[in-house]
Amino acid sequence: MTPPVLKARKSESWFQRACQHLVGGVNSPVRAFGAVGGTPRFIEKAIGPYLIDVDGKRYIDFVGSWGPMILGHNHPEVIRAVKLALEKGLSFGAPSPAEVELAELVSEALPSMDKIRFTSSGTEATMSAIRLARAGTNRERIVKFEGGYHGHSDGLLVAAGSGATTFGVPSSAGVPESLARNTWVLPYNDADALEDLFIKQGPNVAAVIIEPICGNMGVVPPTPRFLRTLERLTREHGALLVFDEVMTGFRVGWSGAQGLFDMSPDLTCLGKIIGGGLPVGAFGGRREIMDRIAPLGPVYQAGTLSGNPLAMSAGLATLKILKSKQPYAALEKATHDLAGFIKRAAAKRRIPVHVNQVGSMFTVFFNEHPVKSYLTAVQSHTKVYAAFFHALLERGVYMPPSQYEAAFLSTAHTPEVLDEAKSAFEAALEAAEKAA
Ligand code: PMP
Repeated sequence: MTPPVLKARKSESWFQRACQHLVGGVNSPVRAFGAVGGTPRFIEKAIGPYLIDVDGKRYIDFVGSWGPMILGHNHPEVIRAVKLALEKGLSFGAPSPAEVELAELVSEALPSMDKIRFTSSGTEATMSAIRLARAGTNRERIVKFEGGYHGHSDGLLVAAGSGATTFGVPSSAGVPESLARNTWVLPYNDADALEDLFIKQGPNVAAVIIEPICGNMGVVPPTPRFLRTLERLTREHGALLVFDEVMTGFRVGWSGAQGLFDMSPDLTCLGKIIGGGLPVGAFGGRREIMDRIAPLGPVYQAGTLSGNPLAMSAGLATLKILKSKQPYAALEKATHDLAGFIKRAAAKRRIPVHVNQVGSMFTVFFNEHPVKSYLTAVQSHTKVYAAFFHALLERGVYMPPSQYEAAFLSTAHTPEVLDEAKSAFEAALEAAEKAA
């Protein structure tokens, strides 16, 4: 598809310059617009629900830095907290009070997390949780699900192998096959496949890691049967259940997906919102499991900038606001309204669209079928999504530059902002219809 003519001269120029010394012009691949074509917008600043690019164009932002900005950009209380922290120093390499306060608040919201270790990214959190699960069970194999993403550590960059085998294969060059074989990959929402694997391999499974609401193939909620089977099988076979709530933690509710589904995973991974927009990750769980980590136990895990005082202060300010305002029902309603609007507008034009939504996460799938698994997700019409995306971008709405991502609302997306977005969505569906 030929991307539309751009009126983004400064972004184009920055992108060309970026490509000289930054790989693909970016520092994280999806930002390069590879899935939708065209030139990524270089952002000058962000405020509330808006991004403003270097050409001075304003966008209603439905990416929210890929999840963290649940309060919108530059929330005054978060900025104030970071400024106060800033004046005290950037990094100490020694413990500081904000780490303790943030850990206390996380543990209060997610009672399954007795003890917590902060990291600098979600990737580190999941990687370390897996190491801990292996040490805790004396087993090596892990299970993940197709379409789930848990950061880019070797053992988790693994896709389903072909045919009947459940052995994983590397999903990136550079991941040794020998490592990938330790990861079994099963279809999401397939309770029978899970049961089969545990019947054959139960005693070898150290952990099952899952996005309890999948966001990384676009939003795909779990079926109750799938979750209950997962809970039962891990318990029966002594495998640890690891919830990767890097995206869903403090996003779908104050107690995350585990709160919504009333589950108590052995380990939980967090990121995004708990750093309020600064680099952060965390993993935690039951005391007796977590106490196996250094310095108390034999599992090594560390980080020069872990628990960084600026990140902790941004996270703490964000969580304090979420705790007092509890914006989740309002966010869910606003997102439900927007999803309904998009569905109705698509139906009027007879465009096959399914909008998956949980809380303030949603994905507009251009797909004839309801999307309940990776297999159905990948049947989506990505070229139609690209046309939809660019039509929105032109009209000042910034959606994820890929069909297979979650979009997010924030508390800064007021009814007025959403009304403005709705007319852009309506026009973008017209563009999608032409591309179909
Ligand atoms: N787990 C999930 C569910 C994620 O969505 C992500 C990032 N999008 C990660 C882990 C990795 O986090 P990070 O990018 O901070 O390494």
